[in-house]
Amino acid sequence: MARLLVIEDDQRLGEALCSELRGAGWTVSWARDAHTARQRVTEGWDAILLDLGLPDGSGLDVLKELRGGGSRVPVLVLTARVRGPDKVKALDLGADDYVTKPFWTDEVLARLRAVVRRSEGQAPPTARTLRVGGCVLNLDAQRLTRGDRVIALTPTEWAILAYLAERLDRPVRRGQLSDAVLQVEDAHESALQAHVSRLRRKLGPDAEHLQTVWGIGYRLTPGEGS
Ligand code: CA
Repeated sequence: MARLLVIEDDQRLGEALCSELRGAGWTVSWARDAHTARQRVTEGWDAILLDLGLPDGSGLDVLKELRGGGSRVPVLVLTARVRGPDKVKALDLGADDYVTKPFWTDEVLARLRAVVRRSEGQAPPTARTLRVGGCVLNLDAQRLTRGDRVIALTPTEWAILAYLAERLDRPVRRGQLSDAVLQVEDAHESALQAHVSRLRRKLGPDAEHLQTVWGIGYRLTPGEGS
């Protein structure tokens, strides 16, 4: 049975969530504050549901520590509607998805299933290849191929593709991507855009998998068969 940690300080919401999630087949533990959450996040969960507004700190700090420690457990963030910037920040810090309060439990369940599925779909370290449409990306050999043809990429184009591939199917902020892949003197939005357009041209018929996420940045989506 999949194990889930719910981090939520609101008594009624926490009770409702835990009961519905148990009903849906999860084994659920509940942490009500950041202090307890910090102690428990590394206990080998299959997923974590994280409220950002906790009585003794921000869920964002819990997330930052968790990812800083190298954990890749799927995290679904719960945010209040009025705190829009937190969503972007949570994604930057490595949240897999978010749900805005108030929400239907069905939506939480569907998104949880999706983030767990995605994390299970990540290629194991021994075979780091993935399919993007008709192309195959080999992250170890740093090679992009279509059929038996190698598609030549510049180091920056490769870095963009690899960075998005490591975060497959998740939106990545423009600023985060350019910080990660561009030289400082080159790090402005138009430079990133130029690299992305060239990369899309090289991807040809598979360019549709390198999507623009409006207001955020880019996302690489897997193709059929992956
Ligand atoms: Ca709260």
